[in-house]
Amino acid sequence: MPGRLQHKSALITGAASGIGLESAILFALEGANVLLVDINEKAVEEAASKIAKKTPNVKVLGTKADVGKEEDVKAAVDKAVAEFGRLDIMFNNAGIMHPADDNALNTEEKIWDLTMQVNLKGVWWGCKHAILAMRSNPIDESKGLRVGGSVINTASFVALMGAATPQLAYTASKGAVLAMTRELAMVHAREGIRFNSICPGPLKTPLLMDFLNTLEKRERRLVHLPMGRFGEAIEVAKGALFLRPETCAETLFMSVLVASDDSSYMTGTDFKVEGGLTSCYVTPL
Ligand code: NAD
Repeated sequence: MPGRLQHKSALITGAASGIGLESAILFALEGANVLLVDINEKAVEEAASKIAKKTPNVKVLGTKADVGKEEDVKAAVDKAVAEFGRLDIMFNNAGIMHPADDNALNTEEKIWDLTMQVNLKGVWWGCKHAILAMRSNPIDESKGLRVGGSVINTASFVALMGAATPQLAYTASKGAVLAMTRELAMVHAREGIRFNSICPGPLKTPLLMDFLNTLEKRERRLVHLPMGRFGEAIEVAKGALFLRPETCAETLFMSVLVASDDSSYMTGTDFKVEGGLTSCYVTPL
């Protein structure tokens, strides 16, 4: 069976850990050439070479970049185009949650600025350089589709709902990612470049678990989760089960779905992978 991302080229940021790493594995298994990008050089190179060994039919590379620096983002996009010939999928996934991010009174301006630099400007620059690269893709209009590229931005459930355990800069940055993604989707809809957000729920990745470092902090959140557990990164990479009417039994991975041409009429959407959290008033006992 050919993979759903055969002949595609993808760049994933924050790819040395968590959602980015799991997505890089899935994308390569589905047939895409993948450039893993992360600020952690050693981890990203190790991750890329491990995936490359398991997926010899595609090119998998790793490179260091700080998404909080536009020149780094541009260099990473240029590298993907130089290595793979084109860029079809840009997954702007890297993000930070600073331990000193707090409420309106306690959050220092430098923490606010750093969070916006990485979580918001980093995604803006990723979108900007992806658009420039994707505009050079030859467009296949034979099937009546304009397929220029797919940009996926990782937002968060906190972009959709408030929490009395504040991380104000993080929340504001993710709300902005959601709004920005929607607008980009409209601006570029007619050139075949699609933009969608993924809103993960609270996950068992270092980003959250380093912060929820006591049982009390974890329990304070777990009581609000309908499923009574934190999610796994792979569950965001795989996402919801997508049943195709023809087969009624086929699992389509969320990030692969959004990245692939199977979602060619989906743009400006906020995909929630949050265990029912944003639909919940009272959780089960
Ligand atoms: P993670 O900590 O497992 O991975 C994040 C990766 O991003 C790390 O490898 C890190 O080195 C990299 N990174 C950090 N700053 C960077 C920078 N400036 N440039 C390049 N790379 C950088 O975290 P994760 O949970 O997989 O998070 C991925 C995304 O999902 C983030 O945007 C995060 O905000 C979002 N998210 C996470 C959760 C959660 O509960 N974990 C919930 C909602 C949204």
